[in-house]
Amino acid sequence: MKVLHLDMDSFFATVEQQARPSLRGRPVGIAPVDSPGGTIVAASIEAKRYGVKTGTKVAEARHRIPEIIILPPTPEKYRVVHRRFRKIMSDYRGELKPRSVDEIALWMEPGGSEPAESARAREIGAEIKRRIRDEVGEWLSSSVGIGPNWLLAKTASNFRKPDGLFEIDRGNVREVLAEISLTDLCGIAERMAARMQLVGIGSPLDLYDLPPWELKRRLGIVGYYWHLRLHGYAIDREDWGTKSLGHSSVLPRPTADPRRLKPLLHKLCHRVARRLRREGWQAGALTISGTVVSGPAREWGQWGATARLAPTDRHHDIFGQAWQLLLREPPAGPLRKIAVKTYALRPADHEQPSLFDLDRRRGALSTGVDRANDRWGEFTVIPAGMLGSENLAGDAIAFGQDLKLQRETAAD
Ligand SMILES: [Mg+2]
Repeated sequence: MKVLHLDMDSFFATVEQQARPSLRGRPVGIAPVDSPGGTIVAASIEAKRYGVKTGTKVAEARHRIPEIIILPPTPEKYRVVHRRFRKIMSDYRGELKPRSVDEIALWMEPGGSEPAESARAREIGAEIKRRIRDEVGEWLSSSVGIGPNWLLAKTASNFRKPDGLFEIDRGNVREVLAEISLTDLCGIAERMAARMQLVGIGSPLDLYDLPPWELKRRLGIVGYYWHLRLHGYAIDREDWGTKSLGHSSVLPRPTADPRRLKPLLHKLCHRVARRLRREGWQAGALTISGTVVSGPAREWGQWGATARLAPTDRHHDIFGQAWQLLLREPPAGPLRKIAVKTYALRPADHEQPSLFDLDRRRGALSTGVDRANDRWGEFTVIPAGMLGSENLAGDAIAFGQDLKLQRETAAD
């Protein structure tokens, strides 16, 4: 499994330089307000060389580079370019997810050996970069990162900027992690980094090298998740893919009583497990959801809870998690309808593609993860709300705030 993450270099500034050739090769800063107190939201590659970057004040930028050209942002231009490189990326097989106006990730369709997948990803990465220059604009430089999950692909895209094409694999992951700092990892902000430092974790390499149970002891479940991510596991929602498999049922009489919901939950999980086995999948995550009837007007609302699973196609595992989830995050009122849905499907005969399992040199550590996985049950149930909160978009103008593009993507 390979994820390819494309990140346009100095996007807003480069787009302005593409549109106006006279700006090319010159330091450009994009700032909504061109006053000394205004803030640069994007700096061109030339400006970055002098230390001007996102967040630099306009006065400071002018001090560093007297000839810098300050321009207001023109979002419509950026959207046009986004649509064009998204169109190019949609020519490749796999699942495409825009992460921001200048970043798109592609979960490539799995197939072939690890070296074959890697070679294909690099080839496609190089082709996409070339096509953006040929078909969208010759000044548009981009960086492509490749990895076994999104986090590592994103990290790889930042590692050789600008105009980079870099893959993180088990052969170089320690080298890369030794060169970056904790806050270079998407999802670790200053506060989390400080918390990690407090318990003796000073670098991404510490997160990689410390045994998982030790990380869990020092940081709680979050530490364990970081361990898995850096070792190439696909544990985050964005890595799950949109493919899901589930069943639902309408209750003859609405109820909130877990004991009365139990037999139905059993039946649904049984059917889901049977279908997973029949279709040859194992699920890595599970959602139970339902329609709640409440209030004097008997209004309908939605209820749902999510948990990760150690990849499984067994009724025992699926029901076990679903039942714990129901007890832990019960619906606010009587359920009229209940559904069990599994995600993060992967072929059952296919081991979780992990940097870790394949890393024979570090045999002792491998036993550690096996041991941790044996006890996986302790770690798997977490509130649904927590899943998203660990994944932060680090952009100045986050895709999540660009409703226009978001609607378009939803319509794709
Ligand atoms: Mg960018």
